[in-house]
Formats: sequence, C-alpha cells, structure tokens
Amino acid sequence: MTTPRQIVASSSAVLLDFDGPVCAVFGGFPDHQVAAELRTMLDGVLPEAIDRSRDPFDVLKYAVTTGSQPNAVERRLTELETRAVTLAPATTGAAEVLDVLARQGIPVVIVSNNSVAAVEAYLRENGLADKVAGVSARESADVERLKPQPYLLLQAAEFLGVPPGECVMIGDSVTDIDAARQAGAKGIGYANKQGKRVRLMRHQPAAIIERMSELV
Ligand SMILES: [Mg+2]
Repeated sequence: MTTPRQIVASSSAVLLDFDGPVCAVFGGFPDHQVAAELRTMLDGVLPEAIDRSRDPFDVLKYAVTTGSQPNAVERRLTELETRAVTLAPATTGAAEVLDVLARQGIPVVIVSNNSVAAVEAYLRENGLADKVAGVSARESADVERLKPQPYLLLQAAEFLGVPPGECVMIGDSVTDIDAARQAGAKGIGYANKQGKRVRLMRHQPAAIIERMSELV
C-alpha cells in the first residue's frame, strides 16, 4: 500500500487546500456570522435553506444564481474572510509540512475557494509566504471556477508548468477529492473531524490522513 508520505514524495507538486489543512479560516470569526452579514445585502424573501445556512458560500452562490449583486457580495465576503484570517487558528503541523516540502524542493500552491486576498494575508502574517510557490484561489463571483470544479487546480498546475497528473491535491472536503479527480490529479483527504473519514472515503481518495504530519 502506498502511504500518504510516499504519494507526496513521488509527486511533482502539492496543491494544498487552505481552510482546514493550513488554518481554520472561520475558527475565530464564525462562518454563520459571515453568512448572516452577507444575507443583509440580499433583497426579498430568501429560500429557507439560504436563510438558515451557516455557510457563506451558500449565500454567495444564491447571490450569483439570482443575480442579486453577486460582485458586491463576493467583495464583501473577501473583506470578511480577510478579517477572519487574522483570528484563524493555525492547523497543527501545517507550518512544518510546508517547511519540509520546501526543503525537499516540492512546490506547493494553495488551492482555495477562499479569496486570494485572504489567503495571501494569512500567509504573510504567519511567515509562510516564502514557503508556497503561489496561490490559486477565488478572484471573482464566478463560482463555476471554485472546487469541486477543477479550474483552480488546473490553473495551479499550469502556473507551475507541471502536468496535473503529477500533482497531489490535499484537502479536508469531498469537493477537494472530486476536484482532484476531475483535474486528473491524485487526492489525499484530511479527515480533521469526526465522521469525515467515512465521507471522504466514499469519494475514493488515494489516501486519507488524520494529522498533517502524516504527509512528510
Ligand atoms: Mg477545506
């Protein structure tokens, strides 16, 4: 059996999800508060699922599909994410993984549905900017580019000049694993919460880890 460490070591590049593997983006400024703040920008009666959702991305997608000033909602989400990352707890082992990969010469691109601005702010504030080769993340309200679509992964691979098939995507959501498959990359699931191992397994990742340190 191939271990997560072997998969990473035999890859030309690592595509690393941000929220989960690097930090808990909404660990200090809760996602349901962000979702509530975005909802104030929407007019009319909202479907119950959107009205009750704790996930800011549900609100963004609703704004996009209904044409309710999607660009303004996306910009506001970017501002709130950028504030959230100043309070975001770092994931145990993430900095060490980035250190080891940098020493091994395996380039890392952060591939995230969060905004480029928020990801870059976090990396800068935490002294990690020089450990990653780039950031392939949300830059607009074009939600079709977000995971589980492969766009951001393919953009990262192209940026590195590496075939997607030589990359491994590491993330804590089934959307990371689905995006990896669609991009032709390997996927490693990070089961950082109770119940995630089973959910991730159903999407057939190449491997599953429970601690970031298992990667190096
Ligand atoms: Mg994640």
